[in-house]
Amino acid sequence: MSLPQFKLLRPRSVEEAVGYLSQDAGSLRILAGGTDLIPSMRQKLFEPECVLDLRAIAALRGTKPLPDGSVEIGALTTLRAVERSDFLRQHYPVLTEAAATVASPVLRNMGTIGGNICLDTRCLWYNQSLAWRKGCGFCIKKDGDLCHVAPGGSKCWAAFSADTPPALLCLEAEIEIASPAGLRRIALNDFYTGLGDDYRKLQPNELVTRVFLPTSSAGYHGIYRKLRVRGSIDYPLAGVAVVIKRSSNGNGVGHIADARIGITAVNPAPLVVKGATELLTGQIINEELAAAAGDLAAKTAKPLTTSALTPEYRREMIRVFTKRAVLAAASN
Ligand SMILES: Cc1cc2nc3c(=O)[nH]c(=O)nc-3n(C[C@H](O)[C@H](O)[C@H](O)COP(=O)(O)OP(=O)(O)OC[C@H]3O[C@@H](n4cnc5c(N)ncnc54)[C@H](O)[C@@H]3O)c2cc1C
Ligand code: SF4
Repeated sequence: MSLPQFKLLRPRSVEEAVGYLSQDAGSLRILAGGTDLIPSMRQKLFEPECVLDLRAIAALRGTKPLPDGSVEIGALTTLRAVERSDFLRQHYPVLTEAAATVASPVLRNMGTIGGNICLDTRCLWYNQSLAWRKGCGFCIKKDGDLCHVAPGGSKCWAAFSADTPPALLCLEAEIEIASPAGLRRIALNDFYTGLGDDYRKLQPNELVTRVFLPTSSAGYHGIYRKLRVRGSIDYPLAGVAVVIKRSSNGNGVGHIADARIGITAVNPAPLVVKGATELLTGQIINEELAAAAGDLAAKTAKPLTTSALTPEYRREMIRVFTKRAVLAAASN
């Protein structure tokens, strides 16, 4: 499958990138590592006139601990760099663990954390060649007006299938967005819409520039568990991130001081599991409590036939992984 024709723009600074975005953002796509954008362009899912290649913007690479104890990660920081960061592993282990499960080492060397946050949603009826989609019929997400997954409906349910966002949600991460109007900073939790087609709150003339992890989320025990067909490379079909902070009652018995659970690949957005913090905080983790957390996460998951493996199995694995991850995070 060949790439469509496009003009390549290579800004060297955020200001230059924003300058391009303010000209004609409607016919432009942003490229970071290109590991998802380029295959999608080959499938003719995107046929932009211009591609804005951010890779020469050195200021957006790397992890920088800030004086207040929080940390800033440039949007162009590769997933490999995140995975290998000693600082992140020590203070935010759930993120390094999630990053280490993305795709394969080669793709993690190219793929960036910004691209992972902005990753397009996925569906068996969408991530296909133009000839395949033409043959089977276009759908709401691109060129059509019906949904093959939920016939009769008017909504797209394509699954958000990136690994680091549930970990970042558990860490209460914020992102910085640059546009011709300047910089704004929002909670990552407010970035996703819950719609499969228009899945993120990012205007065509905006780009994500940085990720911030607060100092209040440092030091939590973190676990990420993921279901995929091939353990060496595939996108998640269900993913669970758990962070837990323990306190001791003085007798060496660890109560849970705080906990959060995030899930991915089973809804059109990554989600924080509501009620999990209240369920776990103040408790000593045992099998029953971990199973109750698994039930709560499974209730939040609404998988449909957008992906390989049945929705029932994927929801069940959310339950199983959550229980295991809670037990592991409480004991490691
Ligand atoms: C075989 C294969 C397996 C994969 N497996 C996984 C997996 O297991 N888990 C997983 O999470 N992902 C997986 N991916 C997808 C992809 O490799 C990763 O999500 C990667 O992090 C994407 O980052 P990137 O920099 O390459 O993004 P790109 O491909 O450059 O961009 C992805 C999307 O984000 C937009 N974008 C990128 N950066 C910005 C920015 N700074 N601001 C605004 N928009 C931006 C682009 O316009 C595009 O829409 C897989 C891909 C392949 C080909
Ligand atoms: S969920 Fe429906 S509308 Fe969305 S990509 Fe799949 S088939 Fe298309």
